[in-house]
Amino acid sequence: MSLESMSAGSPVYLDANATTPVLPSIVEVVTHAMQVCFGNPSSSHITGVQAKHLMEQARQRARELVGAGHGDILFTSGATEGIQTAIVSALLNAKKNVTPESVLLYGATEHKAVPNTLKHWNQVLGINARILSIPVDRNGLLDLAFIEAHAKDALMLCTMAVNNETGVIQDLNAIEAVIRSQNMECAWMVDCVQALGKRNLVLSETTIDYAPFSGHKLYAPKGIGMLYIRHNAPYTPFIAGGGQESGMRSGTENLPGIASLNELCRLLLDAEQSPFQSHEQLGHYRDMLKEAVVDTFEQVSFHHDFARSVPTTLNFSVDNLTSKEVIDLFDAAGIRVSGGSACSSGSNRSFVLDAMGLSDWQSENAIRMSFGPADTMEQIEEACRRIRSLKPILAQNCLIVSDSQYPNQEACAIGVTQFRHQGACCWLYVAANREAVIIDPIVELLPRLERLIQKQQLIVKAVLDTHNHQDRSSGHVILSDMLGFDSSQSDALGWPRNLDEIKVGDATLKSVKTPGHSTDSVSYLLYQTERVVLCFCGDLVLPHGLGATHKEGGDAFSMASSLMNLDTVLSPDTVMCSAHDYKQCFAITWKVQKGQLPLLFALTSGALSVEDFVADKAAQSVQEAEPEQLDLCGFINAVQNSAFEELNATNAVEWMHANNATLIDTREAYEHSAQCTPCSVIQESEEVLNIPLSRMADAILRGIITPDNAYVLLCRTGNRSRQAATTLRNLGFTKVCNLKGGVALS
Ligand code: PLP
Repeated sequence: MSLESMSAGSPVYLDANATTPVLPSIVEVVTHAMQVCFGNPSSSHITGVQAKHLMEQARQRARELVGAGHGDILFTSGATEGIQTAIVSALLNAKKNVTPESVLLYGATEHKAVPNTLKHWNQVLGINARILSIPVDRNGLLDLAFIEAHAKDALMLCTMAVNNETGVIQDLNAIEAVIRSQNMECAWMVDCVQALGKRNLVLSETTIDYAPFSGHKLYAPKGIGMLYIRHNAPYTPFIAGGGQESGMRSGTENLPGIASLNELCRLLLDAEQSPFQSHEQLGHYRDMLKEAVVDTFEQVSFHHDFARSVPTTLNFSVDNLTSKEVIDLFDAAGIRVSGGSACSSGSNRSFVLDAMGLSDWQSENAIRMSFGPADTMEQIEEACRRIRSLKPILAQNCLIVSDSQYPNQEACAIGVTQFRHQGACCWLYVAANREAVIIDPIVELLPRLERLIQKQQLIVKAVLDTHNHQDRSSGHVILSDMLGFDSSQSDALGWPRNLDEIKVGDATLKSVKTPGHSTDSVSYLLYQTERVVLCFCGDLVLPHGLGATHKEGGDAFSMASSLMNLDTVLSPDTVMCSAHDYKQCFAITWKVQKGQLPLLFALTSGALSVEDFVADKAAQSVQEAEPEQLDLCGFINAVQNSAFEELNATNAVEWMHANNATLIDTREAYEHSAQCTPCSVIQESEEVLNIPLSRMADAILRGIITPDNAYVLLCRTGNRSRQAATTLRNLGFTKVCNLKGGVALS
């Protein structure tokens, strides 16, 4: 089955832990509360009285649902507000008891709202207690011995009922026993956001002081939540004003939101009418999804013990496929899942999985698949069907870039391909006869390279390093072994001792010594006829920066002569392939490289002596480097983002016609061919080139795109294509525009 037919229809949504759609019956009551029962609960006329009645009915049902006993239920804007209210109340009350030993404790896998709120108010309120994170074990369960050791000094403890990334259920009874054996006074907050509708709660039978909940995690709209406050627990209003909610939380109540909770609680309380599935049925759904994932991706590791997790969450990683690849693949098939670290924007790792002691790969490449308790068998079956349909696509593409211009090479990496891992780059060059060289292989990418070599039947002529990388271990020895190369026949960087040059199809690879970043640095020059078309230069020079010379073996003097020597053999159009690309440049030529680095330009044009280059390079390292740059293998000059137009779909189509522009899809081949989301710009274009970022260098090398022509770039959301547009502008393409918001918004 093709992705096209597979993804027809509405997307399969498997990201319920992030948020859920609103159930139809909830939409109905919300609409009613906006149009009919819309009164202000504080008004004394009948419309107000009706509104108040609705609000109190919701509170009564919520009490019943969570077993609030004599405790209070307060309506809030969501869990984050509930967390603020609880923490401020507890800390203000504890202020009088602060000692130098005082601590605030929170679970290492809490939602970030918890530690960040603790840190904020601890400082703002001048409490200045030590804040300690309670470790968890491999199953994500809190370390009870740690709690026992610190509880007596705790002013407050924050734990959670169910984790949002893994679904792991904490043993609240055991935690309570340990806390209270040490400290009857300290405040205890339990984040119950992900437990609502999935766990039975009788809060009044516990010593939990505060429990925040959020509506949008369980079929109510965003912007409504509630907070349980134990009877007699310390409380300070977080929002003062008109005295609503008995003065505990001012501001006119969000009646439509409260009406949604009213209906939600009704559904949860009424087993007969409830659309929610039984625990067993949800467990069955999880098994079905697990099986579909394992059948499709084969090498999958699940990150949590299913017996100790709610059935609605699966957290896993696929060996050899990054989470980005898996998510893009799912997205192309119309399945919405999230990276395990969805809530920690900016970071690629999951702090939750790190806390559980999982491997780097698992933490960086986690996928979270979560569904809601009202999902039906039909929906789960459809999800499984779509997941399984990815299997042939995975096999066909071996997730390698392809160039749709050449259908006979559809799954083949002929030409040059960049593979990235964090800021590091590895390069693969494949000639038309499938002879190949691999430069600077990265350990983390080896399984992928191995698979590629096997599936594409590449004839690897050499696996080479440009130098002994100081920032990472190299994959060249392992890969060479795997390919059966005799290491005694090659030098330390992998170059065969008996050869002056290596033939790769009709190209020739030569090695030149280019010390500077390190003493052993070499550059590999790929000649086609007499011209150097590719230069694998390691860390001598990186896009937008010169290699670092302050690390072991670094020497600016040697770097100057290496650069000048290279300048005599490279042509302006030589594509430079560095071992790092910290600025996401993807493709750069020698001419552009020189244009962007004044020091390099001055040196190679003779305007700067070697001595002055050495002095300026040293000064640059000291003055211009940000502290964190000192760890990098090169100093990156600030990149000036060349201006290009960002157009919406209508304007992009107009611009494309007016400029006779070609459309470039920068998504990976499997996403490009899926085209599951109809896109007006694609429909309007006569020709679409598929050039993923990893193949930008190849497109330049082969002249598939040229600065004389005009291009509209697109991808899924407009981000990758923006990077590609920046690259093209830097390369002197003047007629380039980016489709703002990508396929998602057009
Ligand atoms: N706590 C947990 C466990 C969550 O999953 C979330 C939402 O991601 C929050 C707190 C914050 O909830 P809200 O979006 O209602 O502020």
